[in-house]
Amino acid sequence: MRLFRTPIWLHRVFPNYSWKIATQERVIYLSFDDGPDPEVTPFVLKCLSDYNAKATFFCVGENLEKNIELSENIKREGHQIGNHTYHHLKGWNTVTKSYVDDVRLCQERIGPIGKSPLFRPPYGRIKKSQGRKLLELGYHCVMWDILTYDYDKRLDIDHALRRITALSRKGSIVVFHDSQKAKKQLQQLLPSYLEEMTLKGFRFELIPVSHQQ
Ligand SMILES: [Zn+2]
Repeated sequence: MRLFRTPIWLHRVFPNYSWKIATQERVIYLSFDDGPDPEVTPFVLKCLSDYNAKATFFCVGENLEKNIELSENIKREGHQIGNHTYHHLKGWNTVTKSYVDDVRLCQERIGPIGKSPLFRPPYGRIKKSQGRKLLELGYHCVMWDILTYDYDKRLDIDHALRRITALSRKGSIVVFHDSQKAKKQLQQLLPSYLEEMTLKGFRFELIPVSHQQ
């Protein structure tokens, strides 16, 4: 069974991470992980522009390095770039020092994005010691409350769309992927999601760099 919405108990186990943003306004916080990708990211940028939507891209350092111009385009169009490690590391399999060094290496590619750089752990898997260390260094861990499963090639698109539009709330943080693996599913899901949520009166903004839980 696919859990399109992260369970509340998980939010309570990791209260220092952001799972959604507290707001009374009809705002959705879109995020795109694993890019930039020379084929998929321009598609995402075009869709976002069609709906005047802003988003946060949690980029992999080595992809930023390979696609410098594309990274500049993301920023120029008013989106922001967050840290997703340099090598897309699995936290549970990595010693804390190597993990933190990899995050720093990615950050060097991104440059400063404010007082509290946004970070998302690949696969959502991070040891408590790694999370603590990154928090000490001023990083802000951003998780999500809506997972689209766009990376799953067997995804039933209509079902997924119904679920993610029904579950999205004021302040929801939604995860998509601008990666080759997600390409086909994303191409179907993203424009329809933007359309449906816009019709429901939502707009799409950047995850605030400093915010309360
Ligand atoms: Zn990832």
